[in-house]
Amino acid sequence: MPAFPTPSPMWIAELFYSVQGEGLLAGVPSLFIRTSGCNLRCTWCDTPYTSWNAAGKHLTLDAVMDYTLAHSRGHVVLTGGEPLLAPELPELSRRLRAAAQHITIETAGTVWAEGVDCDLMSLSPKLRHATPVGTEWEARHEELRRRPDVVRRLMHAAGEYQFKFVVRDEADLAEVDEWVRDTGAGRGRVLLMPEGTTVEAMNERGAWLGEVCKRTGYRFAPRLHIYLYGNRRGT
Ligand code: SF4
Repeated sequence: MPAFPTPSPMWIAELFYSVQGEGLLAGVPSLFIRTSGCNLRCTWCDTPYTSWNAAGKHLTLDAVMDYTLAHSRGHVVLTGGEPLLAPELPELSRRLRAAAQHITIETAGTVWAEGVDCDLMSLSPKLRHATPVGTEWEARHEELRRRPDVVRRLMHAAGEYQFKFVVRDEADLAEVDEWVRDTGAGRGRVLLMPEGTTVEAMNERGAWLGEVCKRTGYRFAPRLHIYLYGNRRGT
């Protein structure tokens, strides 16, 4: 019997090779597998084609693997949308592991996926400011976005973890502290990114956020891909 006998379709928004823009591995050329579909609806979602207007193609795991191994130089990022919602993700992660890929999973940390394997669990819980107030998604998003029990499990399901928080203003910092308290995360593993999808917005907010990081000990994290490519798909 073959090791991976059941090629099943995955809902894929895009596959692309780029430079990791965020987090501890910022700057590392990486192959991105972006699934479509999300259980949240952030106001500022920068991939609305995976959430508010989810779309994509259904590809077999074999097709995803073929593309990945043809283009990857060793680092693969499983992202979304919410990749942990994809039923095929555990098998995909195991196949990538078997192919000696370094795997990062980028998740909002609201769902657990049994059997998922990765090197770096990149957790990005959504803060209150992301709630789409006044929309039909408000109550659902608010109910789902904060799951410390799930986040704690995910933190220990991988070799390493990091937290990435999109920060808008001072009000967000108390929430970040709350997450650190609830999870026991080390400060050096907590990265704060200025909210914004333009270089101008990030520079402006980043100047303030840099001072916050000096004061609190959290790490400052630019969103490198915005500087390199702008807020565009496939980057
Ligand atoms: S969790 Fe991510 S993909 Fe989902 S709505 Fe929020 S920003 Fe968009």
